[in-house]
Amino acid sequence: MAKRRIDHVDVQGKAVLMRVDFNVPLDDQRHITDDRRIRMALPSIESVLGRGGRVVLMSHLGRPKGTGFEEAFSLKPVAERLDELIDAPVFAASDVVGEDARSKVAQLKDGQVVLLENLRFHPGEKEGDMEFARQLAAFGDIYCNDAFGTCHRSDASMVAVPQAMEGKPRVVGFLVAKEIQYLHDVIDDPQRPFIAILGGAKVSDKINVIRNLIGKCDRILIGGAMAYTFMLAQGGKVGRSLVERDKLDLARTLLAEGGDVLRLPVDTHCGDDFSPDCRKQIVPAGQIPDGFEGLDIGPRTAAQYGDEIRAAGTVVWNGPMGVFEMPPFDAGTRAVAEAIAESGCISIVGGGDSAAAIEQFGLSDRVTHVSTGGGASLAMLEGKTFPAVELLDDA
Ligand code: ADP
Ligand code: MG
Repeated sequence: MAKRRIDHVDVQGKAVLMRVDFNVPLDDQRHITDDRRIRMALPSIESVLGRGGRVVLMSHLGRPKGTGFEEAFSLKPVAERLDELIDAPVFAASDVVGEDARSKVAQLKDGQVVLLENLRFHPGEKEGDMEFARQLAAFGDIYCNDAFGTCHRSDASMVAVPQAMEGKPRVVGFLVAKEIQYLHDVIDDPQRPFIAILGGAKVSDKINVIRNLIGKCDRILIGGAMAYTFMLAQGGKVGRSLVERDKLDLARTLLAEGGDVLRLPVDTHCGDDFSPDCRKQIVPAGQIPDGFEGLDIGPRTAAQYGDEIRAAGTVVWNGPMGVFEMPPFDAGTRAVAEAIAESGCISIVGGGDSAAAIEQFGLSDRVTHVSTGGGASLAMLEGKTFPAVELLDDA
């Protein structure tokens, strides 16, 4: 799915209308607590500025009501942070397609940046409204999508705006190009053995990922709380573990479809309370005593999974193996992360908590690609196609 990239178009003297994902976390004082999403967009922005173009940035932030400006969701702090990070003037518009935005865009010079206000202040964004899209489209000679976190959505800025710009160059930014390369292209044609590691809290979140990957992977290693739903479906004892009782039939179907590809834990590290200083026990899978709950994969499982991972050609990981936020129940997740780091394989980590875990272990730069989009990366692992990406120019 090779798409034309921002560095493939001539931007000199042109305005690039760029959709970015500046949906950053803010504290009570509206200080940015993690500016990674801003920094990730810099290569695409700088590529335009460095070649004599100008940039009109648009993003959403949080979930405002969609009825106009709300201080709590203003992109103003983002514009200030961007101004510190980038060696170019950054102007903040006080509206989205209103008078201030129109005048700031009209006065923008090459080498400069303007950030429009939160797209979701306008009801047209979530509605995919074409008239709103045409007003945004008028701001650019070139459309660029570098908002991977939003690529699975059909908001106006993602779909209707590039539609309204038909005939003009419509490209992906570096971030989206890289996400597609790993989450789509590598998974479509992986180095084998191709192993998926799936964990996290719920089977229901990841059913479609399991379904899609059963046909593509050589092995799917299951961990996290979702393992207990599978164990219960097989007639095992799960004590007080987190299970989805309405998903037992589904779990049986997936076990049957998965055959030898789907692997479950062989042991469980459980505790009699959801706390670090609970009474702990390591038990064989499906033998969790009453009053105990599974909180991590056991050491035998961690060793087996580690061996499989070290021999892999490609690994995709989504969802921690246990409650990694609460040592010692981080051990299983840590073992998997270390095996990935030691393996020479192509490794792709998707999912907010999995990315946080690998960061917590200091191993982020030992994996090939850590995805920036939670929902979008899941949707891509489910094998979904994204209209927001499909309609852009092919390379
Ligand atoms: P990701 O964000 O990587 O997709 P999820 O959101 O699906 O991952 O799941 C992450 C959460 O699952 C973590 O907060 C973790 O504590 C929790 N979790 C993992 N294993 C268990 C378990 N055995 N019992 C309860 N919670 C668990
Ligand atoms: Mg999560």
